[in-house]
Amino acid sequence: MQKYDVIVIGGGPGGYECAIRLSQNGLKTALIEKDQLGGTCLNRGCIPTKALLHSAELYHHAANASGFGVTCEGVRFDYGAMAANSKAVAKKLRDGVAFLEKNHGVTVYKGRAAVADRHRVKLDTGEELETDRLVIATGSEPARIPVKGTDLPGVLDSTGLLDLTECPKSIVIIGAGVIGMEFAALYTFLGVPVTVIEMLDWVLPPFDREISRYAEADMKAKGVRLVLGARVQSIEEGLKVRYTLSADGSAGVAEGEKVLIAGGRVPNARGLGLEELGVRMDRRGFIEVDGLMRTSVPGIYAIGDVNGRMMLAHVASAQGILAADHIAGRPVKQLAMDQIPSCVYGEPEISMVGLTEEKAKEAGFDVGTGTFQLSGNGRALTSGAAAGFVKFVYEKGTERILGFHMAGPGATELASETAAVMACEGTMAELCDTVHPHPTVSEAVMEAARVCRGCCVNAPKPRR
Ligand code: FAD
Ligand code: AMP
Repeated sequence: MQKYDVIVIGGGPGGYECAIRLSQNGLKTALIEKDQLGGTCLNRGCIPTKALLHSAELYHHAANASGFGVTCEGVRFDYGAMAANSKAVAKKLRDGVAFLEKNHGVTVYKGRAAVADRHRVKLDTGEELETDRLVIATGSEPARIPVKGTDLPGVLDSTGLLDLTECPKSIVIIGAGVIGMEFAALYTFLGVPVTVIEMLDWVLPPFDREISRYAEADMKAKGVRLVLGARVQSIEEGLKVRYTLSADGSAGVAEGEKVLIAGGRVPNARGLGLEELGVRMDRRGFIEVDGLMRTSVPGIYAIGDVNGRMMLAHVASAQGILAADHIAGRPVKQLAMDQIPSCVYGEPEISMVGLTEEKAKEAGFDVGTGTFQLSGNGRALTSGAAAGFVKFVYEKGTERILGFHMAGPGATELASETAAVMACEGTMAELCDTVHPHPTVSEAVMEAARVCRGCCVNAPKPRR
């Protein structure tokens, strides 16, 4: 039986980076993947969605370029080619991951793994491996919503939707979380009628309420039918989605050629033999870990979506590297979860770092806020994208940065600046005093910090 220092189960962004770092740390490492290296992120998540969004944005901007003095006639899109491009990008990255594993001396096994005991892993190929330590990085999958009709043809989850080679003629999206909103943006760019049904009274639940309201208004202005405060009851033949409004109990129906279920994700933690070993899970099935990614069983770590701490690719990777260093006995620093950006792609782009205004108040901070509108930003205006804003949430007195929130062009790139300043324990003062290049959208970050400090020259006087 082959023996390893560490076995990593799951080759997504958590597992594949963890395995490489373990090997860099001098440990004999195996990585087991049942499907494709790169996991959800690369094969049916972050990457294919962004590739499709890019194609759709290109189409939309070409078709609407006349305001910039550019006329494009007969602009059309080929959805099959867009989908093929998204798969090709994923393959390129997947091949890169396979190369890196080999290059770093990680042994990759293809097969579904289960844990036989603390030191033995069995694959469905019949192979059996021995190990000192185990890292569980099995990720998550789309949640099923408990209503009738989800098995009808044309009712898809995000994976099914990404496999389509023909553009839906119309779509009903259940769930206005990040995934639902990104697909809504994609199909809106392509001119497809979109309905979004959300149980809560606002879209993008974890984001600052001002951002949610902004995204809601923006979507509506683009023609998306948004039904908020509505619980889906059933899906019927002809793809009629029946819902009830929580406000008054009235019923409604939305119809689409396709229905996307985007009601959250569930961990892949069951059936791996972990319960039998006593690995503790919470009531939703996420594996419980401490700040070093250790589970309740010594020698077993869990990283990424499967621990549910923050279900994002960059979090999975960061946790993987942390676990790999801890296993190797290197000094590690726990992740500051309040300094990690969350992003929504599409139009507008949205990002946040840290606490929303609501959460900061709930946490008892003496909260100050400052907002700068992109209508006052030269670069946003030159690009015809001067809608949106940057908002800071800070602690009065200390000027500690508690939260960064942005809707507008480049928001997903600009979040990193504030995250870096927070990591250096910088305050609103550092953001305010750092001279930003002109003309860039990044100036709006500095301007919002200046609004917080009452020294912004490019914004109207605050109303007293
Ligand atoms: P995964 O990527 O899910 O990888 C787990 C791997 O484990 C899979 O390859 C699976 O096949 C394998 N596996 C499972 N069980 C076994 C077993 N028993 N044996 C062997 N292998 C097994 N995040 C972002 O940060 N930015 C985005 O823009 C973004 N967009 C997204 C868009 C969509 C549509 C979706 C669905 C997700 C998106 N995410 C995004 C989330 C991101 O994909 C996940 O947070 C990330 O992939 C989690 O990484 P992971 O390594 O924990 O798990
Ligand atoms: P996320 O967990 O961020 O991917 O978001 C999933 C979204 O789907 C949340 O905002 C949920 O409120 C919403 N949701 C889940 N189930 C339903 C349902 N049956 N009807 C409408 N919205 C739902």
